Parts: sequence; structure tokens; C-alpha cells
Amino acid sequence: MNTPIFTIIVPCYNEEAVLEVTIDQLTAKLSELIEQNLVSDKSKVLFVDDGSKDRTWHLIYKASLNNEIVKGLKLSRNVGHQNALLAGLFSAKEASDCMVTIDADLQDDIHAINEMVKKYNEGYEVVYGVRSSRESDTFFKRLTAEGFYKLMDKLGVKLVFNHADFRLMSKRAVEELEQFAESNMFLRGIVPLIGFNSTSVCYERRERLAGETKYPLKKMLAFAFDGITSFSVTPIRFVMLIGCLSFLISLVFGLYFLTLKFFGNTQLGWTSLITSIWLIGGLQLIALGLVGEYIGKIYKETKRRPKYIIDVDLFNLPLSRKLINMEGADYEPISETRKLSENN
Ligand code: UDP
Ligand code: MG
Repeated sequence: MNTPIFTIIVPCYNEEAVLEVTIDQLTAKLSELIEQNLVSDKSKVLFVDDGSKDRTWHLIYKASLNNEIVKGLKLSRNVGHQNALLAGLFSAKEASDCMVTIDADLQDDIHAINEMVKKYNEGYEVVYGVRSSRESDTFFKRLTAEGFYKLMDKLGVKLVFNHADFRLMSKRAVEELEQFAESNMFLRGIVPLIGFNSTSVCYERRERLAGETKYPLKKMLAFAFDGITSFSVTPIRFVMLIGCLSFLISLVFGLYFLTLKFFGNTQLGWTSLITSIWLIGGLQLIALGLVGEYIGKIYKETKRRPKYIIDVDLFNLPLSRKLINMEGADYEPISETRKLSENN
């Protein structure tokens, strides 16, 4: 059996605090896989710099000069985790038989990669990394994350429970993924739609090695809301249901007030009036907002804007080593890469 060419894809956004350790650990892991003859010696680790503002690209670039198996992809600006993953997958797919995506903070267990590659060699096209425990997460993160999976399930979106973006995909699966042209990519929801033979590998999620989460509460909520409205129309139906209910309630109240008017006390409370105005007004605004959200999505999709723009691609257009060495070891990464790609 031919060993597959394998690429580990790592999205990085302002990860200078953790990146050096990550580079060491992932290159060691890949060398181990190559030694065990599980993957081809042409395999690489591809770091995608998602428009970082710190020294992330500098570190990636430096590592790529020192180590043949480290490659880098620099995006022109920050486009978010999901798009950075896509940029990595689509750039690597030509030269790879299978690819694993993993976060730069190594919260996901890199030792699960062995099992994933074995599953690929057994014939699986997609292997999901599933967290068996979330003990390392804060109580709040665990509650919100697990609640999110359960809510998505209730809304009819098929997600793999407790699976984030640590997964192996075959070249074939990534090629099919490319056909999903929507600009709002929520990979956890889309990959199961590709189908093919798939399986899961369990691992324990750890704490971030260093640095801070790039998903503060605000971003996390936006991500969850995006995931829901990209995959489900249940919220809109729910709003309609609430609308119907409040209509029924107002009928009952109407009857009640009429009865009061005709059979006694006409001093109807200002309170009930004002409350219902606010209640109905609020419900209407929520409904409008939600409908607007979906219309906004349609608007965004119709524009078909590119999901990311590549600035420097060291994976498919390797720079000439000789030229780089002549430039000396003190890198000025951005201007240097530009100069060199012009020369090539
Ligand atoms: N990330 C990215 N672009 C962004 C935000 C995050 O590429 O705009 C990367 C980040 O560098 C990390 C991964 O996405 O490799 C997951 O982010 P993080 O670990 O901060 O999320 P959490 O694990 O806290 O949900
Ligand atoms: Mg993380």
C-alpha cells in the first residue's frame, strides 16, 4: 500500500505566545508518523496566518526556512477561523491525499492524529475528533458549548456531538467541500452533509498551552447564531408560532376587557394597556429582526465575495532557499517574501 501524503493544517490568529511550541510538537508528530510509515515523507505541516497583528507570520516564515516540512500560508487580512481553515484545506488539497485541521493552541490531543490516519488508511474519508471530556474547559464554556450542540440538534441540524474543527478529511472529501459555494461556511454543519464513509476518534480536550482564547463571549455568540441561522429556518417558524400565540392571548384579553366594560368596572387599567403595547411591539421587532437576519444572509450570499485572499503561499510556491540564504538570517518577512516572489 502506498503511504498517503498528509498535511496538518493549523489556523493561527495572533498565536505568537504558543506558536513555537506548537511548531515543535507538530513537526515531531509528523516525523513520528513518517517514521512509522503511516504517511509519506512528502507530508507537511501548513500554518495559515489569518491576518495576525503580532509576530505569528514571522515565526511561521522562520520555521519554514529551518525545516522542510513546515509550510506557511499568509492571508491578506483576518477572515476568521472557518475561512482560514478553508484557505488551508483548498491550498493543500492538490498536493495531499488527506488533511487534518487542528487549532494552534493544541487543546486537541495531537496523539489522536495517529488513530485518524489509521482510520483513513482503513478507507474512511472523514474522521471526526470528538472530545470525550471537557474537564479542562471552564464551567461556563462547557455549559454554553454543550447547550449549543443540543440546541442545534433540536433545531434539526445534524452535528457530531462535541466535535469542533479537529478532523481528518480525504482529498476527495475536500474536493466535494469546494462545491459548497455558500459564503457563510459553518464547517461543523457542512462536513456531515458531504457524506462518504466517516467515523470518530475520541480524545481528551486540554487547556490552551499559552495565549488567550480568540473566541471571547461576543464572538462565540455570533458564531453560534451564525451556525443556527445558516442551517435552520426553525427560528423563523418559532417566531411565527409566538406571533400566533400572542394573537390568541390578545383575543382572550380583548374579551376580558369587553366583559369588564359591559358588566361593571370600566376603570380599565392603564398598566395592562401599556404592557401589551410594549409586549406586542417587542415581539414584532424581534420577528422583524430575525427575518432581516435571514434576508441579510441572502444578500451576502448573492454577492459571492471571495472568502479569503492569499498574500503569500509557501505551500504551493516555495521560495528559493538559495535566495533566502543570501538575504541573511535576519528576516523582514513581508517585504522579503514579496521581493523573492518577484524574483522567482
Ligand atoms: N483563529 C483564526 N482566526 C480568528 C480566530 C481564531 O484563525 O479570527 C484560530 C486560532 O488561532 C486558533 C483557532 O482558530 O488556532 C481556535 O481559536 P481559539 O483556540 O482561540 O478558540 P477556542 O478554543 O477558545 O474556542
Ligand atoms: Mg482553543
